[in-house]
Amino acid sequence: MRFGFEKLAQDGAARAGVIRTPRGDIRTPAFMPVGTAATVKAMMPESVRATGADILLGNTYHLMLRPGAERIDRLGGLHRFMNWERPILTDSGGFQVMSLAGLRKLTEQGVTFKSHIDGSKHELTPERSMEIQRLLGSDIVMCFDECPALPATDKAVAESMRLSMRWAARSKEAFGDRPGHALFGIMQGGVTPELREESAEALKAIGFDGYAVGGLAVGEGQEAMFGVLDYAPGFLPEDRPRYLMGVGKPDDIVGAVKRGIDMMDCVLPSRSGRTGQVFTRHGVVNIKNARHQDDPRPLDEACICPACRNYSRAYLHHVFRSQEIISSMLLTWHNLHYFQQIMSEMRAAIADGQFEAWEAAFHAGRAEGDIDPL
Ligand SMILES: [Zn+2]
Repeated sequence: MRFGFEKLAQDGAARAGVIRTPRGDIRTPAFMPVGTAATVKAMMPESVRATGADILLGNTYHLMLRPGAERIDRLGGLHRFMNWERPILTDSGGFQVMSLAGLRKLTEQGVTFKSHIDGSKHELTPERSMEIQRLLGSDIVMCFDECPALPATDKAVAESMRLSMRWAARSKEAFGDRPGHALFGIMQGGVTPELREESAEALKAIGFDGYAVGGLAVGEGQEAMFGVLDYAPGFLPEDRPRYLMGVGKPDDIVGAVKRGIDMMDCVLPSRSGRTGQVFTRHGVVNIKNARHQDDPRPLDEACICPACRNYSRAYLHHVFRSQEIISSMLLTWHNLHYFQQIMSEMRAAIADGQFEAWEAAFHAGRAEGDIDPL
């Protein structure tokens, strides 16, 4: 079985569809929870699946350093290692080398860097990134690219983008022909339409199974990000999935889908679950606040996740303040459930041609704010 994408409905620029892989279908628009170190923190894989996730993201940079791609391969690949049999997308490692590693050296060949864990020296090139992602057994492989630190001049952004396009061609060559597996190209070009278009043309000439809009969600702000998304997805082929990397907050996700994005990933729902920040239909709730300590009501009475069905705000407040492990488990579950709920509702609204009405209701609910304290 080959990798494929089918667009089932469109409402404005928003698209609903399905990505087909040998490991199962991915309903789009899709939100991918992040399993950085071969685990979505505080969640069992079957629990992640129960929230509605069709696919996970794994981080090449983290996994190559610990436990190592060759070791995961010897142990049967990442799916078996972490007990997640459904599709996995892996990033290329490039972005995290830039954000986490020490003493980086960038050349035409690739990047050498020191591990943030033990200071050991490593090299990532397009060829090595493709090899690592193959050893992991990734279903959707990302091109190795360079993401310039912002703010940057147009000239620096252009040079970085052209290097990424040369690396994209090398990534495609190294990836080879692997039926059932997909390789995605990554558009760069900052906030300059001409550079975005040049990048998209270069990627289309190489030819990929899907296309990511890269270089966003790096601190430019929502307005600038939406500004790029107003035009950039239009440079990409209609019949391939479009992936916005590292996004985002619920309103970022909704705004991206509205502008034609099909896939997203972010650590936000899981990371926030561990810091007591909860996303609900009525905006953000901070469970650590004292207002919850005598409150017998659920986080969200309409939510059917285990945290909302079986526990009170008072209990969730107590276990968070007591630093009990179940606090991270329950709040992460709720957050992931809420993110998947938004995706599911958007897919249905797009199919019904009701995206605009759904979006208005989404923003109205969040503007209401949390329920009044008791
Ligand atoms: Zn819930």
